[in-house]
Amino acid sequence: MTAPTPLIAGNWKMNGLAAALAEARAIADGLGGTTARVALCPPAVLVHRMSEALAGTPVLVGGQDAHTETSGAFTGDTAAEMLADAGASLVILGHSERRATYREADDLVAAKARAAINAGLEPIICVGETLDERESGRAIEVVVSQTRGSLPRELAGKAFAVAYEPVWAIGTGKTATVADIEEVHGAIRAVLTTTFGDAGATVPILYGGSVKPANAAEILHAAEVGGALVGGASLTAKDFLGIIHAL
Ligand code: PEP
Repeated sequence: MTAPTPLIAGNWKMNGLAAALAEARAIADGLGGTTARVALCPPAVLVHRMSEALAGTPVLVGGQDAHTETSGAFTGDTAAEMLADAGASLVILGHSERRATYREADDLVAAKARAAINAGLEPIICVGETLDERESGRAIEVVVSQTRGSLPRELAGKAFAVAYEPVWAIGTGKTATVADIEEVHGAIRAVLTTTFGDAGATVPILYGGSVKPANAAEILHAAEVGGALVGGASLTAKDFLGIIHAL
């Protein structure tokens, strides 16, 4: 079975004005001969301009969330089709910040994944346990349940990725140990192959949570790690390129 091509995606969260497009350009200019697929997911209002700024480069552009519907009375929301129309080719779904702040549950994330697929976007579906869940020995149970509940059958035959992001490691400077990452990624892989058969073996499983240039090599080379979802360190070309070149 072919190993998945690694994907390294930057999640800019609610950061970045038009001036930050220069940083995106610097990332594209510094890619060198990386074997990874590289993506940047800026705030929705920057997707179009970033797509234009990165046209002709291998850097993909993605959204950070998408609605389940294609259009309608949903003030403040963005449809997957709109992201695609603006030049996005991927979208992050079910990020723990959205699960926590907007109470997004697995079935909603699955519905968003269906909408993303219908719009031709590649979803990056996030799962991950809280500190309480890890400390009470429930990390695997929680992540397996989120993975089962957030991945609709319609993903069969489509390009998508799963991102394991322990909530306690996001933006905190704490990272999971390589052993813990390998254990959780192995459990996610088992769900993927049970659900999607052989195709489940080629889905990249990204790790996310305080990935930096200093810890990227050991994380990216761990078993079943198919890339990274990077928050803070994707905001500067220096740090993001440091992670990309650790592969
Ligand atoms: C994230 O927001 O997906 C993330 C992993 O953030 P950070 O790298 O800053 O921990």
